[in-house]
Amino acid sequence: MNLCNPRVIRELMEEAGIRFRRDLGQNFLVDPAVPEEIADAASVDEDAVILEIGPGIGCLTAALAERYRRVVAVEIDRGLIPVLEKTLAEYENVTVVNGDCMEVDLSALLSAAAGGGVPGVDFPVAVAANLPYYITTPILLKLLESGIRFSRITVMVQKEVADRLAAAPGSKDYGAITAVLGYYGTVERRFTVSPGSFLPPPAVSSAVVSIDLYPEPRFKPLSEKVFFAAVHAAFEQRRKTLVNALSARFSDLGKEKLGEIVVSCGFPADVRGERLGTGEFVALSDALFRAREALTGKAD
Ligand code: SAM
Repeated sequence: MNLCNPRVIRELMEEAGIRFRRDLGQNFLVDPAVPEEIADAASVDEDAVILEIGPGIGCLTAALAERYRRVVAVEIDRGLIPVLEKTLAEYENVTVVNGDCMEVDLSALLSAAAGGGVPGVDFPVAVAANLPYYITTPILLKLLESGIRFSRITVMVQKEVADRLAAAPGSKDYGAITAVLGYYGTVERRFTVSPGSFLPPPAVSSAVVSIDLYPEPRFKPLSEKVFFAAVHAAFEQRRKTLVNALSARFSDLGKEKLGEIVVSCGFPADVRGERLGTGEFVALSDALFRAREALTGKAD
């Protein structure tokens, strides 16, 4: 069955009595080269268990199942489950789960699918997905903050989001998500995909990116909580100087002290947060942590 053929997709959906759901970001791939390329990029290890978010009718799922030990595919749309049972019937190494990827216990699912063990420790795990665009950043943050040691996360996202994920400090696309991503790993832009590669075509262009996660944490802030608070404060008001932006979340320290901290970290007094790379945010957050500790005896 050619799962990238628009006629096949329409027939499968008609048979199941379902329609494309815009609210769930349902734009299915119809260019057969794209799922193959995403699947190729997903992992260097064919023994990996792959988590797929949003299998749709299963074109990427099948390409992943051909290459890797096991695929766990989480699909929120109950109407697609009978379709997936049919399209993936020949693959014994696929587990389809009906659920919201933001709600399910990913670690438990991956462990059960692999027959036990801790994902990322006892067996390699990676993520591959053509993401629903309405929820891209929350999904990426959930994956990164899950504590699961994914070796790589390869996802199709809106092109503008790809630009943001891979942006350099100081550039117009650099934002909180870029600095946060840099905490967990490195981003590689792979290729762009035009709207015509999807059914129905989305209004925007898309791009595939891979995030290679550090096997061991590269940055060790004194407090993760203060690090994330500093990053978010800096970008909540990105037109302001870093000192002014920080004073919203670190008002207890006062502007004068915040100014001293920024300068003591080696930045100009009027620097904006968008100039700081992830490592510099870590240094800043350590200085903030120490200053609070000195002030109150409590740091975060
Ligand atoms: N993988 C298919 C493809 O490439 O053709 C479909 C990709 S489509 C862009 C996104 C898929 O994610 C849809 O099947 C949609 O129903 C599903 N989805 C949307 N929100 C979800 C969520 N919160 N959890 C799991 N799946 C979700």
